[in-house]
Amino acid sequence: MLRSLKMANKDIFVTKPSMPPLSEFLPYLEEIWERQVLTNGGPFHVRLEEELCRHLGVEHVSLFTNGTIALMTALKALDIDGEVITTPFSFVATSHSLVWNNLRPVFVDVAPDTLNLDPAKIRAAITPSTTAILAVHCYGHPCDVAAIQAVADEAGLRVVYDAAHAFGVRHQGHSLLRHGDLSVLSFHATKMFNTFEGGAIVSPSLEVKRRIDRLKNFGIIDETSVAEVGTNGKMSELNAAFGLLQLKHVDEYRARRREVDRLYRKTLQGIPGIRPLHAPRDGDNYSYFPIMVEPVCRIGRDGLYERLKENGIYSRRYFFPLISRFAPYNTLPSAAETNLPVATDAAQRVLCLPMSTDLVEADVRRIVGIIAAAG
Ligand SMILES: *Cc1c(COP(=O)(O)O)cnc(C)c1O
Repeated sequence: MLRSLKMANKDIFVTKPSMPPLSEFLPYLEEIWERQVLTNGGPFHVRLEEELCRHLGVEHVSLFTNGTIALMTALKALDIDGEVITTPFSFVATSHSLVWNNLRPVFVDVAPDTLNLDPAKIRAAITPSTTAILAVHCYGHPCDVAAIQAVADEAGLRVVYDAAHAFGVRHQGHSLLRHGDLSVLSFHATKMFNTFEGGAIVSPSLEVKRRIDRLKNFGIIDETSVAEVGTNGKMSELNAAFGLLQLKHVDEYRARRREVDRLYRKTLQGIPGIRPLHAPRDGDNYSYFPIMVEPVCRIGRDGLYERLKENGIYSRRYFFPLISRFAPYNTLPSAAETNLPVATDAAQRVLCLPMSTDLVEADVRRIVGIIAAAG
């Protein structure tokens, strides 16, 4: 249950890291100091990979220093070239990971109900140069994985999921992370499960995991041989230790966020022009709480964003501007707004309300009160 504490109004940010008590972290630090193994696949690193496999219900996990290096490495591991179909409605790292691999992003529009890539529009954008699809489970809501796989199979494309928002998300009774050739997680401080900085790749086989583990360690095979041009993507023991501690609490964190989600839905009901993007979904991780601001809301999305800010409540316009609007991308033919009408409209109307483990009932009621009064 949500704690209903009376306290002075405080600033509230869109995300807030879940922090277990420091006293629980100290024994991990002592172990690291005793062992003096700081990185390169130490014992905490090994344990976190094992425990994440169990917790998430996946076969193989490779930990990374952050989600962006993990994305770049995942694409590298597929040995693809040419064009990759991707979404403009995401964090900019999604497209950056393509360009860092000399791959050409081709933006395709999203579906209005999920703001995830629209499979029919993917099919229409395939050319002889297309080699892969890089999709995002935006806000942790599953892409239409069956339809995307069908399109990929027809055209012989690889599929990578940027699953930075999808930690622990279940889909039809299984981990959502089992879909596609590879799924990539982020454990950045703003994500629902964090290791300060961190990330991971979920792979389907030990063979693929071994290749990825080699790529994240400079391509080194042994003391005297380097097989290929790898990078340094290794997660340190400090970060892995924090992950192990977080993992002990993450079910409780998810349950608390679910309560916040339920309370938002209940209290937002009936406010004209405000609509939660998705219906409640079992298997959700409650990472974000996106609302759509409809035209009948006179103050508009940006007005609401400013009004909340004046009251110390920092919502975020994820994802505005679209990636396709940023300088490195806005001259691509696929970046034209006429090619991306749904994403363009959504970027003008979406607002992510604060969502974190520590929000209490009074916080949610205060936020919704400001929204209701703003009309
Ligand atoms: C956070 C995020 C990333 C990048 O992850 P980092 O761990 O911050 O490098 C990539 N894609 C999406 C959709 C994200 O939200």
